[in-house]
Amino acid sequence: MAKYEVVIGLEVHAQLKTESKLFCACSTRFGNDPNENVCEVCSGMPGVLPVLNRRAVEFAAKMGLAMNCTVRNHSVFERKNYFYPDSPNGYQISQLGDAICADGHIDLNMGEYTRRVGITRIQLENDAGKSIHSSTENASFVDLNRTGVPLIEIVSEPDMRSAEEAVAYLKTLRAILLYLDICDGNMEEGSFRCDANVSLRPVGQEAFGTRVELKNMNSFRHVQKGIEYEIARQQDMIEDGEDVIQQTRLYNAEKNITAAMRGKEEAHDYRYFPDPDLIPIMLSDTQIDAWRAELPELPEQRKARFVADLGLPEYDAEVLTQDKDMADYFEASLAAYDNPKKLSNMLMGQFQRELNERGMAVRDVVMRPAMLAELVRIIEEGLISNKIGADILPDLFVADISPEAYVKEKGMVQISDTSALEAAVDEVIAENPAEVEAYRGGKTKLQSFFVGQVMRKTRGKANPALVNELLASKL
Ligand code: ADP
Ligand code: MG
Ligand code: ZN
Repeated sequence: MAKYEVVIGLEVHAQLKTESKLFCACSTRFGNDPNENVCEVCSGMPGVLPVLNRRAVEFAAKMGLAMNCTVRNHSVFERKNYFYPDSPNGYQISQLGDAICADGHIDLNMGEYTRRVGITRIQLENDAGKSIHSSTENASFVDLNRTGVPLIEIVSEPDMRSAEEAVAYLKTLRAILLYLDICDGNMEEGSFRCDANVSLRPVGQEAFGTRVELKNMNSFRHVQKGIEYEIARQQDMIEDGEDVIQQTRLYNAEKNITAAMRGKEEAHDYRYFPDPDLIPIMLSDTQIDAWRAELPELPEQRKARFVADLGLPEYDAEVLTQDKDMADYFEASLAAYDNPKKLSNMLMGQFQRELNERGMAVRDVVMRPAMLAELVRIIEEGLISNKIGADILPDLFVADISPEAYVKEKGMVQISDTSALEAAVDEVIAENPAEVEAYRGGKTKLQSFFVGQVMRKTRGKANPALVNELLASKL
């Protein structure tokens, strides 16, 4: 991709974790029976009036503050007119020009460089319902439970230059939402979703190329793959002398392709106008400052603290703070055993692998942080080897048991007693005369063979440092 520069801007929708909907008192609970959470307002009955959810405004403003935006003192709801069966009003209540937040930025840590991505605006709007097309009955159904649930749409400037940057941006946004505790961040269920606008331009050209909007990517991997496919597709078209058409395309994960869904509509197609049923959102500076003061420690700050106060490498701090639950788990284990780097190694290594293998999230782990701390401590103190530690982690992971009591009960405690190990070392030397001769003849690489034999004899319980010492002196 030397000839063309990739340009990407993202529109991210995040469902806000409020109890009730944006303009009525209906519950936002997911998983209720179809049309259980519905009233006159969110089903679009005539003659009823929307009442704005205060908490949703607070959440949107806090997201703006966390992304270095200006929060407007005065912002307006607009009607975005279009017909869809699961949107009974015939319009969506959204924001456009005077959205609640504007002009922010976030910095993406890309390893060798930092990318600053501008935030154009954050708008508050309501979600649509769900159409269900039955395969058994010759009918379609509409579920309005989601109709009216509050969303924020976070619109970025076209500042990203690769699929990797787009994914990093999404991960950063999701982490901030989870730290603020205003969205559950679930991509598969659609409470955190993104449209990716992708275009190419010849390197050195100022004007942007024609963009395509990609939808339907419900994992970070899909975002990566979908954008990569789209870049390749557009490059082929340009090189074949064809024009890229401005359109919306759907990502198909099964085939890993994008396919045209519809031509891109423009803002005027929606005949936006200020919603006459809703007064503007008026926020005083005092209110905005109060929300700013309430912001929790955010991932970036927590990462800086882990580096400065705990002496963790930048990389560790980044990995641990991406997931708030992981960072919380780490800090709780640190309270039980003050060894940040060893705990970090365990969490980023075996602990993470265990999560991956089981498809589990940190919050589902039964083992308490103090017990993980104990495991790391008894390895450090030489009570058990790293190897035994790794072997027993799967058992400990899903139980609330003391690792120290567990290894003592199972007789897994490491043999650090010289006389006991000497016997095993002597046996190994006696049983392998050929190897001993080769070793003494200069094949010192055989050291690890001998260590292995001693380990086998002691069923992995020999203290490796001590075994090496004994072998060195006896060979
Ligand atoms: P629309 O609703 O029409 O998609 P928005 O203003 O909501 O318009 O979002 C436009 C998005 O597209 C923004 O994220 C913006 O950064 C991005 N964008 C605009 N032009 C380009 C382009 N040429 N290439 C890539 N992204 C673009
Ligand atoms: Mg859009
Ligand atoms: Zn309702």
